[in-house]
Amino acid sequence: MKLSKKQRAELREKFGGRCAYCGCELPERWHADHFEPARRDLEVRQGADGVRRLTSVGTGRPESNVIENMMPACPPCNISKSSMPLEAWRRWIAGHVNSLNQYHPIYRLAKSYGLIVETAEPVVFYFDKASQAQRQA
Ligand SMILES: [Zn+2]
Repeated sequence: MKLSKKQRAELREKFGGRCAYCGCELPERWHADHFEPARRDLEVRQGADGVRRLTSVGTGRPESNVIENMMPACPPCNISKSSMPLEAWRRWIAGHVNSLNQYHPIYRLAKSYGLIVETAEPVVFYFDKASQAQRQA
């Protein structure tokens, strides 16, 4: 969906100029993300070999291509989320620590020297916190 300049400016301010997901200040070249993917044909699935991959599971969803379904996102979040549904992406991010421990010796070494502390905290998106704060105000 092509946003007008005004729509894009409004979308940028949806969370005070911050990425809806990680909460960083949006860079100049931010992305307008489809909250519900316009294409919901990819999901993280575990293959027979035990490796989790993005897997095609269906057809596109043109009804998601509306301004109400858009979120301001930094490029790394938007590219990482890709066309994953939110909860699938949340699970995928949560799995990154396991991947780092499994496949990255420099991560394990840095951890063994106390440079990295794993918190086991749940993945909470910025918009989750922002809407929680709004409910408490
Ligand atoms: Zn982000």
